[in-house]
Amino acid sequence: MTYAAVPALRARPELAEVYEPLLTSRSYDFGLRVPTEKRGIIAGMSMTEKQGGSDVRANTTRAVPAGEPGLYALTGHKWFTSAPMSDVFLTLAQAPGGLSCFLVPRVLPDGTRNAIRLQRLKDKLGNRSNASSEIEYEGALGRLVGEEGRGVATIIRMVNMTRLDCAVSSASGMRLGLVQAVHHATHRSAFGARLVDQPLMRNVLADLAVEAEAATLAALRLAGAVDRAARGDAEEEQVRRLGLAVTKYWVCKRAPAHAAEALECLGGNGYVEDSGLPRLYRESPLPSIWEGSGNVAALDVLRAMARQPQAVEAYFAEVDWGAGADRRLDAAVAGLRKELAGLGDPDAAAYGARRLVERLALVFQGSLLVRHGHPAVADAFCASRLDGDRGLAFGTLPAGVDTASIIERSGPEAAV
Ligand SMILES: Cc1cc2nc3c(=O)[nH]c(=O)nc-3n(C[C@H](O)[C@H](O)[C@H](O)COP(=O)(O)OP(=O)(O)OC[C@H]3O[C@@H](n4cnc5c(N)ncnc54)[C@H](O)[C@@H]3O)c2cc1C
Repeated sequence: MTYAAVPALRARPELAEVYEPLLTSRSYDFGLRVPTEKRGIIAGMSMTEKQGGSDVRANTTRAVPAGEPGLYALTGHKWFTSAPMSDVFLTLAQAPGGLSCFLVPRVLPDGTRNAIRLQRLKDKLGNRSNASSEIEYEGALGRLVGEEGRGVATIIRMVNMTRLDCAVSSASGMRLGLVQAVHHATHRSAFGARLVDQPLMRNVLADLAVEAEAATLAALRLAGAVDRAARGDAEEEQVRRLGLAVTKYWVCKRAPAHAAEALECLGGNGYVEDSGLPRLYRESPLPSIWEGSGNVAALDVLRAMARQPQAVEAYFAEVDWGAGADRRLDAAVAGLRKELAGLGDPDAAAYGARRLVERLALVFQGSLLVRHGHPAVADAFCASRLDGDRGLAFGTLPAGVDTASIIERSGPEAAV
């Protein structure tokens, strides 16, 4: 959230000038002090209210002008605010001109505590190292970021960055689970042979590897797009727009199933905390909830396609770089174009959004793999994700896949 706050703050250049060097500093100054007097600070994000998580426009926290231009007093309740020890929070509240974004410090310039009351820490499924809290703003002072009434447009700049994090963290979680699974299967024997040499386990491990590699390629392609877009590349901004929503949905959605399967590769030991996999498993559903839960991410794709046809063009220009490399990919791209041309009634489109977004994500990943992935991984991906008949569980790759090459490059010793 600290780095993601930077693009949002740029909507108010005089605030960015002061806070950007602190947010991007490589050293953090601990303690409850005035943020601008520190060497480095961290930022949180305070949007979600009881009645408004996905639908932040339902937020009721109020912001009233507090004397100085740009200064407001915020009053209201936030149901989720993580990292409540942050020095500053980007907070959404209803100003006279509509929902707006504010920079709210924990300590005011005169050294007194701002009126932010921490009511409770959440008792969560996982993600324990990140404290999440319920807080009450009781006339807390904050500075307007961006224009009044443009709160969503302002904070979305932050959310776009944290959405990328969701995809990157899900992809890296998959890699972590995969490495553990391959390691265990390489050193554990059952029924007289190492697990890694047994055909069905090879199918499972190779399938987990294919998923992890596809997720990583998509996440890193988008990380590049985000960087290039930030430097003013308009085409990459369009790739980012659709690609990130699609990938956030799909990669995060796949993470819990992947974690569960990787855990099972260790048998009973995978279910025990010592293996580290229970923590990965508990963490895995979270990125799909954060920053636009599954349905919200899928609907965001429909919105992007309706409002920004350039983003659809950029998506197809991107996947077309893989044209001709694999007939199954080519057929999937053609099928997708046909599907998009037939999108009609908005309710029907919304009803089918997950299926469509899944397809968009798979084609995106397939195109990246045929260009940049290991040939065996690309082949396995196209055979299992874009073509033919595949089972629903991991470990249902069709016959003919080169599992040896895939597994060989997936263990802890393999260079990625
Ligand atoms: C560990 C953790 C930390 C968090 N930290 C923060 C934080 O620091 N700051 C912050 O502001 N928030 C934070 N959140 C809150 C999080 O961003 C919200 O929980 C999330 O945005 C979903 O909102 P909600 O909980 O109100 O669910 P709802 O909006 O009620 O959604 C419930 C379900 O309905 C679906 N849904 C919503 N709208 C539609 C629709 N139109 N059509 C179909 N389905 C729909 C959603 O996809 C979801 O599955 C955190 C959450 C967690 C779990």
